Amino acid sequence: MIIPDYIKAMDAKDRLAQKKDEFVSDSSLVYMDGNSLGPLSKHTQKHVSKVLRQQWGEDLIQSWNKHAWIDLPNKVGEKIAPIIGAAPNQVICCDSVSVNLFKVLSSALQLVPKRSIILSMQGNFPTDLYIAQGMSNFLGKERCNLKTVSEENLLSELDDSIAVLMLTQVDFRSGKLLDMDLISKRAKQLGVIVIWDLSHSAGALVLELDKCEVDFAVGCGYKYFNGGPGAPAFIYVNSAIQHRVEQVLSGWMGHKAPFQFDPNYQAASGISKYLSGTPNILSLAALDAALDVFAGVDMHHIRAKSISLSELFLQLIDDADGLSILTCVSPRVASDRGSQLSFSHPDSFALCQAMIAAGVTVDFRAPDIIRFGFTPMYQSFADMWVAVQTLESIVSAEVHTDPIFQAKQKVT
Ligand SMILES: *Cc1c(COP(=O)(O)O)cnc(C)c1O
Repeated sequence: MIIPDYIKAMDAKDRLAQKKDEFVSDSSLVYMDGNSLGPLSKHTQKHVSKVLRQQWGEDLIQSWNKHAWIDLPNKVGEKIAPIIGAAPNQVICCDSVSVNLFKVLSSALQLVPKRSIILSMQGNFPTDLYIAQGMSNFLGKERCNLKTVSEENLLSELDDSIAVLMLTQVDFRSGKLLDMDLISKRAKQLGVIVIWDLSHSAGALVLELDKCEVDFAVGCGYKYFNGGPGAPAFIYVNSAIQHRVEQVLSGWMGHKAPFQFDPNYQAASGISKYLSGTPNILSLAALDAALDVFAGVDMHHIRAKSISLSELFLQLIDDADGLSILTCVSPRVASDRGSQLSFSHPDSFALCQAMIAAGVTVDFRAPDIIRFGFTPMYQSFADMWVAVQTLESIVSAEVHTDPIFQAKQKVT
């Protein structure tokens, strides 16, 4: 495919262009799904095979000390901390986002014993709502009562009757970005505890958790952090509140001395009490290595390139006559969205399948959305051109109407 000169010039000026070489993927593939599963870096591939061969294979159980497996949840947490604007001793890496939400919700409710409402948004990622529903069923509505509102009503519903405000910073469908600073500070004034889910922002946006005075946050290891399928998630707990809260999934790894086998739980001090069971060493090792791609990278550069990629993409879609059938459901102003653009179309599912078959990986989100993720570490401006040209030729030749592109599998 011939790439126009002005797009080649954008790539020539791109200071992150070399980063692409750090990944394993086939360079002809245009990958726009890094917001769902980030790709494998060469360093991760090497490191994990070394962990398998040498650490597990040869050193076996000695590795807990010899290769400091026991410290990996904290070590990886400290690698994530600067990327999300957190000073040391506030981030730990373990379990899934869902499990970690349960942990931080249980802590948050303790800080506001006279209130019971968890306020969230109707369009929040389902697992976040499910965890709050589970907590509510367990504790009873007098202690934990989930209320969901539309985005327009969020600030007007936020008052001093609310216990916890639980939000996802970037909406997984539309990419709409919430103002973390404004909302967190408003919550603080009202005595409301805030929990941010950073699954669609960590590793893509400039985050300043400490500056925004966030109480708790959780986020994903396998999306923009490229930690691999099912990579462990992270938890942030502001150091100002760590000593005031307990964590109900009080497993032995969160005990202050796990190897004393004390029959009574005594929480570790600080962020370590957010551990529950034995860490997933292989997955943690993969995430540990994957995060090295971020070393020395300024998140402002990542965000700036993400915006440039998405602005070019949107312009190319707007300019393509045949693509006026797609309705943009993301904010058109770049500063109001995360690192994705979403479009609705009745045949979205088939369009996605046809795109994937043509070498452009994108994803479908029910009921009718095609989602394009922007990941400055390994995408080029030329990729944007290829993606839009591919989509345009599929639509004009009606390739997606072939029944092979209609078949749905378990994961869509
Ligand atoms: C991806 C994602 C999750 C994933 O949760 P897991 O428990 O790790 O599977 C949770 N919340 C949001 C907002 C997400 O985007």
